[in-house]
Amino acid sequence: MHPFQILLAKWSSSFYRGNKYACNLCGFEAKKLRFRGHNHPVIQRKKILSAGKRRSDCPNCLSSDRDRRLWLYLENAITPQSNILHIAPEYPVAIKMRNLSKSMGFHYHCLDKRTQGYYYPKWVLNGDITSLEFADSQFDWVIANHVLEHIPNLQSALNEVKRVLKPTGKAIFMVPLSQSQPTEEGCITVNGQWCCELSKKEKIERFGQHDHLRLFGTDMDQIFKKMGFDLIFLSHENTEKAISHKSPLALFANECIPIATPTASPNVDNINAISSIP
Ligand SMILES: [Zn+2]
Repeated sequence: MHPFQILLAKWSSSFYRGNKYACNLCGFEAKKLRFRGHNHPVIQRKKILSAGKRRSDCPNCLSSDRDRRLWLYLENAITPQSNILHIAPEYPVAIKMRNLSKSMGFHYHCLDKRTQGYYYPKWVLNGDITSLEFADSQFDWVIANHVLEHIPNLQSALNEVKRVLKPTGKAIFMVPLSQSQPTEEGCITVNGQWCCELSKKEKIERFGQHDHLRLFGTDMDQIFKKMGFDLIFLSHENTEKAISHKSPLALFANECIPIATPTASPNVDNINAISSIP
């Protein structure tokens, strides 16, 4: 998100001022929200959460419904001791986190894979989730929302996140999620390399977006289990009273926050002890 977009939004936000919604990231109160997303038949057909055209964005800071849900959770989860890595950071959340890190004292790092045609603030490091330039076991939190559906080799990304997380750390992996089917994989291995051979048109028809390589579904927790993470879907206590646009925060109905914790590595001594029992 370019700073010019934010400036333009702030300049025109007075047209949206009202008391129907309130943004928990910037405090703006609005009578209506800005549009985001696009509609495609697959979004309804596969019941994909966190997708589709809707009035979701704060007129002032341009936070989306999922940004506000994320902040509902994070503001109570981070502590002054936290060390946080935010991959492909949501700009309104990152601004809030950067400001808060200065007053609370926690460590906050942002990283994204720089792509031509996009703007990145200088505080966003260039990097790749499948090859992180951080030491082992240093982060309490890794946040990588709407990232994993773009990565050909899912296991390599999860391995790296697990490597840089402390054993007690947690990762947040919000993704477009089908409520009606298991995960649909668009990638294959060719000569040992993961790649996606689908055309842009096929990706849109199957996953709802031209650059999505898979659609996570009802078995996401089982897939993560096999790849080294225990996954829970956190439904915020406000969710029930925050259905769609009837709530002050205008959250996306039914959306949960996937929280992943590294599965404990098998203890070799225990395995040996078990295997020695007749
Ligand atoms: Zn806002």
